[in-house]
Amino acid sequence: MTITGVKGFNDILPADVGKWHHIEGVARRVFELYGFSEIRVPVLEKTELFTRSIGDDTDIVEKEMYSFTDKGDNRVTMRPEGTAGVIRAFIEHKLHRTDPVAKLYYMGPMFRYERPQKGRYRQFHQIGAELSGVTSPMVDAQILTMLCHYFAELGLTEPTLQINSLGCSECRPPYRQKLKDFLQVRLHSLCEDCRRRYENNPLRVLDCKATGCREATVAAPSVLDNLCHGCADHFAETKCYLRDVGTRYEINSRMVRGLDYYTRTTFELVTSLLGSQSAVAAGGRYDRLIEQLGGPQLPGIGFAMGVERIVLLLSEQDFRKRPDLFFVYLGESAQKKSFTLMSELLQMGVSVEIDYEGKSLKSQMRRADKSRARYTLVIGENELNKGMVVLKDMDNGVQLDMVLDSHNISRIVRCNPYQPT
Ligand code: ATP
Ligand code: MG
Repeated sequence: MTITGVKGFNDILPADVGKWHHIEGVARRVFELYGFSEIRVPVLEKTELFTRSIGDDTDIVEKEMYSFTDKGDNRVTMRPEGTAGVIRAFIEHKLHRTDPVAKLYYMGPMFRYERPQKGRYRQFHQIGAELSGVTSPMVDAQILTMLCHYFAELGLTEPTLQINSLGCSECRPPYRQKLKDFLQVRLHSLCEDCRRRYENNPLRVLDCKATGCREATVAAPSVLDNLCHGCADHFAETKCYLRDVGTRYEINSRMVRGLDYYTRTTFELVTSLLGSQSAVAAGGRYDRLIEQLGGPQLPGIGFAMGVERIVLLLSEQDFRKRPDLFFVYLGESAQKKSFTLMSELLQMGVSVEIDYEGKSLKSQMRRADKSRARYTLVIGENELNKGMVVLKDMDNGVQLDMVLDSHNISRIVRCNPYQPT
């Protein structure tokens, strides 16, 4: 009996990995441009880290965490998201002492026990960024602009940026009570989940997808009408900075996000192309989280993007790698010469493929085609005797006679590097 993978845990196969490299590579380039450095934290953390930061009454902590007791009787959890671990490391290594403004990014697998479907898996990947130490709305605007910049670099302009403010410890409790009063007389119209949320996390009712809950909350008080002066100013200034730099946004006062630690600005990048998996990136400000986890009193803001969802959005594009050159050879001496040339060219950084099994000319040509190599080079007795070969450009059919020498071949191939179309 063959052993298959675990449900919701996917393999990323070579045909797809080019897209992943591209997504990760552009993230590194864009985030580093804005001054962010990578941080790598473990996938396993103490369970308490997540319960204390994400909050008990959230989907993640209530039902999605992969938690277990290890052989030493420790309660541990496979990280469901990146922020908690990054902040834990930030505090543990006192990174604020090196620089009061920390700009960190991360990428890697996250784990949530959810019902697997397109764009929703049990092991999935996030790329995220966190900035701590700054209260100014200038960084809210810059983080959002960096996120949009990243998507623009990927050629993805469809996802829309939605923003909201969730207020702070001063204005959220009275708003929460106001919302509860509004919901109390409508409890019978809410879904079972929301009737439970009403008690502990009433804001979550606002972003429930159930029709009954949507209809019952049409006239619900808006969080934006209930912000204190500080939060209202912060939100207004954030919008102002966004407009100044041309970052487009929509306001969605019903967006509450699933995690407890958010304060003030929250946001999502939403697509209409992935059904109910509509969020490709999400995040917000967390001005109390660092302190709440035992660190200094420092504000923070960050986001995480779902890599699998970005992969789906890029589905039309082809990121498979192409070799520069494919050697086709006829006869034993040509095979030996090809192998030596191949080795020399690889040392020079030219990627070369060859048919190792020495099959017929026709089958070698077929492999060359299939490999999508930019150039092919056919070497037979004649070529060996004359010391000349014909290099064929497979994209436009142009043929070029040249001296059979690795430096010469490398020069030509590198002059015409493969450009993705
Ligand atoms: P959703 O509403 O789709 O469940 P979420 O609010 O739980 O998303 P976050 O915790 O904000 O998601 O995570 C940030 C991003 O990570 C999401 O916008 C999404 O792109 C991605 N993501 C979250 N959960 C999954 C999952 N199970 N599989 C794939 N991607 C996911
Ligand atoms: Mg979720």
